[in-house]
Amino acid sequence: MKNIAIIGAGMAGLSLAYNLQEHNITIFDKSWRPGGRVSTRKHDNYLFDHGAHYLSTNHSVNQLNEIISRYNLGQVIEIDFAIDYLKNKKTRKKIIIGKNGMNSIPKSIFDNIKVKSYFNSKIIKISKNNNGIFSLFSEKEEFKNFDYVLICIPYPQSKELSKEFINFTKMVNDPSYEPIHTVMLSYKNINNINIKAGLNLHKDISFFMNQNIKFNELSDDCWVLNMSSEYTNNNIDVDKAALEKYAQSIFEKTFDIKNEISFIKSHRWLYAQTKVSYNSISKKNWISSKDDKIFLSGDWILGKSLSDAWDAGEKLSHYVKILSV
Ligand SMILES: Cc1cc2nc3c(=O)[nH]c(=O)nc-3n(C[C@H](O)[C@H](O)[C@H](O)COP(=O)(O)OP(=O)(O)OC[C@H]3O[C@@H](n4cnc5c(N)ncnc54)[C@H](O)[C@@H]3O)c2cc1C
Repeated sequence: MKNIAIIGAGMAGLSLAYNLQEHNITIFDKSWRPGGRVSTRKHDNYLFDHGAHYLSTNHSVNQLNEIISRYNLGQVIEIDFAIDYLKNKKTRKKIIIGKNGMNSIPKSIFDNIKVKSYFNSKIIKISKNNNGIFSLFSEKEEFKNFDYVLICIPYPQSKELSKEFINFTKMVNDPSYEPIHTVMLSYKNINNINIKAGLNLHKDISFFMNQNIKFNELSDDCWVLNMSSEYTNNNIDVDKAALEKYAQSIFEKTFDIKNEISFIKSHRWLYAQTKVSYNSISKKNWISSKDDKIFLSGDWILGKSLSDAWDAGEKLSHYVKILSV
């Protein structure tokens, strides 16, 4: 049994923890909860999946499907979906959503695996002693005695954290991300909008989704809007109130809404979705240190979805199992 530290309790970190349970696992996350970008926000009576919106029904990560069905974490719903709202292209689409919001998927997976965990613990430094054993440091504490360190956080951050141990100079291109501003808004009265989700609402809004189809308990009409990556890139430090007003005005103009909003808030995801994956550059499924003791994983290894994050963690777990016998 090895002592393994996993940094990041998003889908990739959880996949590793799930698959390496025969070892002594400690998982660290800077946030107060597991799930990372699979995030459900609650404000008084409003609920919003403002990170990952749904899991595609045709992803090919069998283990994730099997876990979702074993623990009864998801449900398939069929909705009217605009493939391209501006071009008026619509379809009926089946999607998988969390039973109690998207974050209930990683949360329940975390609750079902017995690992030591430290939340609100941002790891800022890794060191190695003369015996090849690692220590991790948060701002307040040192955590000692790890044989392996598996880093499952967005690429730019993992590169910074592991640069003493991994030689990045040979990489021709770096994997990259697109940022997204999301806007959560709701109305006291239900608006008469028959399309529940879709792409390309406006040149600056790449995705929109109604939340009432996910959360039966909602009485207000709740929506999440994703600003396009181009808009977000060009307005990365935009004043939040100005962004919210802009998104609201586009939404209301598009659907001819006259009702008053009851709530509005925005969030900036700097590393929202993978633009160029590591696998597409290198054909490899993880990055490792020279001594094969520190590894980097995450959605950015394989693609842009939460199933890619799970798949990346699962693939790395097979290799760590072989190394650690
Ligand atoms: C707005 C938005 C919409 C999306 N829509 C979809 C969708 O509809 N369908 C889909 O499949 N995917 C979607 N995605 C992508 C999906 O959410 C991600 O691919 C997936 O959740 C990534 O998982 P991960 O484990 O690789 O990374 P993350 O979820 O980012 O997990 C990394 C974790 O590491 C923690 N962390 C970071 N730095 C440190 C540190 N130094 N110390 C300790 N902890 C640290 C973070 O708090 C986080 O919990 C969306 C993402 C966003 C942002």
